[in-house]
Amino acid sequence: MTFYFETFGCQMNKSRSDHLAFVMVQNGYIPAENRESADIILFNTCAVREHASERAISVIQKTIEDNKPQSSLYPIIVIFGCLSQFLGERLKKRVPRADIIIGTQNIDRLPQYLLDRVEKKTPIMDLDPNPFSTVFDEKGYLRNRTDISTFLPITYGCDNFCSYCVVPYTTGRQRSKPLSTILAEMETIVEEGFKEITLLGQNVNSYGKDLDIKYGFETLLEAIDRRFGHTSVWIRYLTSHPRDMRPSIIVTVKNSPIIGRYFHLPLQAGSNIILHSMNRGYTQEHYLQLVQTIRETLPEAGVGTDIIVGFPGETDRDFLETLQVVQRAQFDQAYTYVYSPRPGTHAFQLSDTIPMSEKKRRLQFLNDTLSQIHQQKIKTLIGKRFVILIDQKSDQYFSGRTSSNHRISFITHSQLSLGSKVSVIVKDIQQGKLIGDLIDAHH
Ligand code: SAH
Ligand code: SF4
Repeated sequence: MTFYFETFGCQMNKSRSDHLAFVMVQNGYIPAENRESADIILFNTCAVREHASERAISVIQKTIEDNKPQSSLYPIIVIFGCLSQFLGERLKKRVPRADIIIGTQNIDRLPQYLLDRVEKKTPIMDLDPNPFSTVFDEKGYLRNRTDISTFLPITYGCDNFCSYCVVPYTTGRQRSKPLSTILAEMETIVEEGFKEITLLGQNVNSYGKDLDIKYGFETLLEAIDRRFGHTSVWIRYLTSHPRDMRPSIIVTVKNSPIIGRYFHLPLQAGSNIILHSMNRGYTQEHYLQLVQTIRETLPEAGVGTDIIVGFPGETDRDFLETLQVVQRAQFDQAYTYVYSPRPGTHAFQLSDTIPMSEKKRRLQFLNDTLSQIHQQKIKTLIGKRFVILIDQKSDQYFSGRTSSNHRISFITHSQLSLGSKVSVIVKDIQQGKLIGDLIDAHH
């Protein structure tokens, strides 16, 4: 029997699908070429924002309408992940023809559930979150060997309870993967030929807390540097919670030639009142100090962020403070969202009187500001030389990212393959994109 994954949401989810694919293959199932030919379609869902959740549900409903005759068991429809955990019985009502619904917790039971489903033919639901596992339970990943880059989760779950966020409720408490397991997995990944590994966690800076490793993230990065510092693999990581970001992490990054010069540091909001109400655990001043430390320690580093506008109670003045922090931090990258109320979170109970039209106006204004900063910033890169890892190519057109996470494209007649590292000099900006000249193809 063949299976196909449809994954919504974050990188963590993509990696979770790779894990479940590994479990499926171990149990004799075979990856399908495409969704149409699959006997089993697995939807890995996201609950972070309502819009994304609703889109996932409509894709699932449509897939069922298009593919599943009333009389047939196939394709078997499996829905798992954060949205299953979050909606529970309500998901079943929305998608009555789903065969198997599992939350985030017991996905490894899927092979048994598939057998049960085929034999007994009754739909199955397992949302047992109680107790959420306390150990990191993924045993392997089916990685796409043609990719240049791959993910490696180092923690699962989240302890932070930001007041707007469902993740701690859907994924449970943070559990870290043992350091020796991470190093062993990396060994395999490097042997398999991947050129870039992104370590994943909701808050990588708190890696190891649950294993009683003090300064766990620095310890991990140092161990990675000792073992892989001589190789050409690039290491990245997501996400750094500003509350737990420490100067010693920045120094550890600086001391390693293989760790990316990019910090993803979600600001969420600029005003201290809103930050407090979001339960973020830091102030605007702390945040700006961190950015300054990054800029001083590693002037070439990129800094990226996530920002939410229209959080309950956000006044014009609060929003202006977000804009001020954005101006001062000079972000190289940003993901921006309108606040989405999620039942069960603390923020859901707050009175929210800002009209949607005003929230959208703020989002637009914020995006315009970020884009102006971006345009100015990339101009300063003209004439500079960078090493990039090529991850896209077609004919004579190549493109890749710098260690600081800037994408540069160039055209050459040279024979270059995906995954190679080359030196380029930025010569131009076209439609907001960096264009370079190849100067050295031997890295
Ligand atoms: N653990 C990561 C984020 C995971 S969710 C961190 O703390 O940075 C990714 C992003 O989605 C968050 O950074 C936040 O900006 C956004 N987000 C989360 N919940 C949201 C909500 N209820 N409404 C709007 N955006 C939300
Ligand atoms: Fe959600 Fe906050 Fe945890 Fe990120 S750190 S996953 S925003 S609760």
